[in-house]
Amino acid sequence: GKRTDLSIAQQRETLPVYSMRSKLVEGVRNNKFLVIVGETGSGKTTQITQYLAEEGLADKGLIGCTQPRRVAAVSVAKRVSEEVGCRVGDEVGYTIRFEDVTSAKTKIKYMTDGMLLREAINDPYMRRYSVIMLDEAHERTIATDVLFALLKVAAQKRDDLKVIVTSATLDANKFSTFFDSCPIMQIPGRTFPVEIYYSAEPEMDYVAACLDSIISIHLEQPAGDILVFLTGKEEIDTCCETLLERMQVFYDQGDTPELLVLPIYSSLPSEMQTKIFEPTPAGKRKVILATNIAETSLTIDGIYYVVDPGFVKINAYDPKLGMDSLIVSPISKAQANQRAGRAGRTGPGKCYRLYTKSAYEKEMNPNTIPEIQRQNLSHTILMLKAMGINDLLNFDFMDPPPVNSMVTALEELYTLTALDADGYLTQLGRKMADFPMEPALAKTLIASFDFGCSEEVLSIVAMLSVPDVFYSPKDKRELADRMKAKFNDPTGDHITLLNVYERWIDNNQSKIWCQEHFIHDKSLRRAKEVRGQLLKIMSKHKHSLSSCGGNIDLVRKTFCSGFFKNSAKKSSEESLFKTIIENTPVHIHPSSALFKKTHAEYVMFHTLVLTAKEYMRYVTKIEPKWLVELAPTFFQVANPQELSARKKA
Ligand code: ADP
Ligand code: MG
Repeated sequence: GKRTDLSIAQQRETLPVYSMRSKLVEGVRNNKFLVIVGETGSGKTTQITQYLAEEGLADKGLIGCTQPRRVAAVSVAKRVSEEVGCRVGDEVGYTIRFEDVTSAKTKIKYMTDGMLLREAINDPYMRRYSVIMLDEAHERTIATDVLFALLKVAAQKRDDLKVIVTSATLDANKFSTFFDSCPIMQIPGRTFPVEIYYSAEPEMDYVAACLDSIISIHLEQPAGDILVFLTGKEEIDTCCETLLERMQVFYDQGDTPELLVLPIYSSLPSEMQTKIFEPTPAGKRKVILATNIAETSLTIDGIYYVVDPGFVKINAYDPKLGMDSLIVSPISKAQANQRAGRAGRTGPGKCYRLYTKSAYEKEMNPNTIPEIQRQNLSHTILMLKAMGINDLLNFDFMDPPPVNSMVTALEELYTLTALDADGYLTQLGRKMADFPMEPALAKTLIASFDFGCSEEVLSIVAMLSVPDVFYSPKDKRELADRMKAKFNDPTGDHITLLNVYERWIDNNQSKIWCQEHFIHDKSLRRAKEVRGQLLKIMSKHKHSLSSCGGNIDLVRKTFCSGFFKNSAKKSSEESLFKTIIENTPVHIHPSSALFKKTHAEYVMFHTLVLTAKEYMRYVTKIEPKWLVELAPTFFQVANPQELSARKKA
């Protein structure tokens, strides 16, 4: 915590990027495109935008800086406004989905790459911006990849637009080649050696191995904070609970210094998120349990120990399912090295890899596969079509997606009637592109007007767009489950979500009511905001709201018009279903209102989560006749034999 004694100005001057200030500013002035490489924590994200603004590059347009992750966009905007000395939303602001904290005063705008891509629909040459920094380009998200191509064109059309690409890794040559062989600037590194330890044998249970490592570091190793990489919220929350319990045993014995346990993941409330940046009090040790967000997006000072189980949760297209699924997957070597590097920023560090040396050397991919090559592209293609880009095969992708996955996405958009048979955008498709959400949800929202249940569908879509609203403390699990069950609807989770939202409104959005029902009131308030944002987009299309007045069959049917692809038929076994599209086994998630209670023949689900099995999250009973009525073209292709014949052809 020694850096906290320094003033903000002094802190800024100690960052490695500071020594490059004038070179960077000149580099941007003299080049259309510039690639900047620097270690995580060197000051790229927080400083470069400020240097450019200080030197007048924001006088004629905004300085935009994209982030692959929401949390990073918000956290960095807050930090930079502190450094500038303004309120967030004044000179420095941010825009993420459903949340725009910018104003007419804003000069530096942080945003998710997805939001900038969305802006390109109405402003392909990015006329509001004088500089755009595509930050964290090594992450290779779909949105950043598409922005590469769009910004290349925009900067060729506009002499006054500058494009910066930054990366924490050494893939800079590839970026430079893509951007007309532009210059690469390297920020001098300042890192300390990190000793790497491997597990002798593969770990059967990496969470248990993680807990053991954390405790032995705390009991045996000299001072220094610990950073642990886990895969998601549930895993992190459970780990935190168990860790606190296990530490209590040591505290009771006395003499053990306190271990501060802090989680960080994207759905964590923001006041909890900023806690990780607070300096550790003397005599204590901090352990941060993080998702991949701490790999390069967020820099936390004072980390001397990294525990790396070697996994990450990614959204990937699963050919077996014919759709995307959230899966836990091994990281790449490049990621393993980034993670280890987090231990060497403040001094010499140690990294405990919970996998064998041979797994690292022989099994891990050298680099992370770009998202565009492994994810469903329907949302992206819908946006490109809305920009008037129809010739996808000749689109200037840095790494083109597999033709197969483009075809699948086109087919999906066609069955949603967003595209016509020639692949051109329909009127419906154009409307759908205005909604910052997956095409199936956008279609559902629009369909709700025809079905006369937009009030209800809006609430449900808003609820589906926020993190799970229920929590369940370990010591009150049974009570929490009983309270939750009060909202359960016999038709399934969609109406259950509606019940929660409506009861909360009926109860005057009371915090106490939320506490009684083990509900995060923040998430509900967020859902209300999202609902308001969606309503704004709706009214742009001159749709006015109507309610089905309790005829909830209409609501379920409306969801089928977007999610017919996510339908499954009951199999012989309890809770086991088979998807209609590929006949793959899927199970009802234990959190569902239908878990162990359904006699439904057919269900529709919102997403799939792969853990030990493939689970459907948010499941609702449906009538098969709805599917045939709402998606006739889908049923032409949904016949498995026909589908495989088409794939062969
Ligand atoms: P880079 O983008 O090169 O990884 P950043 O500009 O994000 O680096 O971070 C530079 C430094 O700013 C970090 O080392 C950290 O000390 C500090 N910093 C960044 N974000 C915050 C924050 N939210 N709170 C406190 N300090 C921060
Ligand atoms: Mg950064």
